[in-house]
Amino acid sequence: MKKTIILLGAPGAGKGTNAKRITAYYKLPHISTGDMFREALKNETPLGMLAKSYMDKGLLVPDDVTVSLVKERLAKDDCKDGFLLDGFPRNVYQAEELKKIGEELNLPINYVIDIDVPESVLVDRICGRRVCKTCGAPYHVTNLKPKVEGKCDLCGGELIQRKDDNEETLKSRLDEYHHQTEPLVKFYGSAVYKVDGTKDLDLLMEDIKHIIEG
Ligand code: AMP
Repeated sequence: MKKTIILLGAPGAGKGTNAKRITAYYKLPHISTGDMFREALKNETPLGMLAKSYMDKGLLVPDDVTVSLVKERLAKDDCKDGFLLDGFPRNVYQAEELKKIGEELNLPINYVIDIDVPESVLVDRICGRRVCKTCGAPYHVTNLKPKVEGKCDLCGGELIQRKDDNEETLKSRLDEYHHQTEPLVKFYGSAVYKVDGTKDLDLLMEDIKHIIEG
């Protein structure tokens, strides 16, 4: 079966971190809508400017914009044998659109993995999260420190805090998650595999490999 994977989970559940590990292991394109919006913002494109106004408030970027971005990306040649979607779909409408895109491209979603983490842990993870400004590698002020303070272990880039990683914006992001994204667990029903996002990353990767390889 093609490795067409969706990662679900609240902000701070570890979607980005685990997505990087899974896509490196299986050599799949990592498609993160959040990263695509941040890249557009860095390049000051009209898409970036539009996305910023929603991201800064912890709100979802409008569906038409997000869906066409994903549609264009999935049509690229590197997705034909599989891909991992991180942060998309974020609501039932996006999931329905993704189903249509999958049918058009003959790339239906085969694995939906839901990373489960208690809410108390999410706040600490998000507020202490740092990311490399250059390569996007994730760190944490206490749980995942870099070897040299403020510098990325992988590329030496500067570590920064995402503008939306603060307690106030997190509240809206969690509201959006509960109201819009959580219903996807019901939408995908028995196709969803739940994994424990508080586990050690290597152990969690073993669980994920088990799901994908059967
Ligand atoms: P993330 O990096 O996945 O935490 O996303 C950061 C922000 O980007 C979110 O809070 C939204 O504002 C926006 N975003 C990312 N993915 C989507 C999506 N599928 N639909 C709408 N907005 C999104």
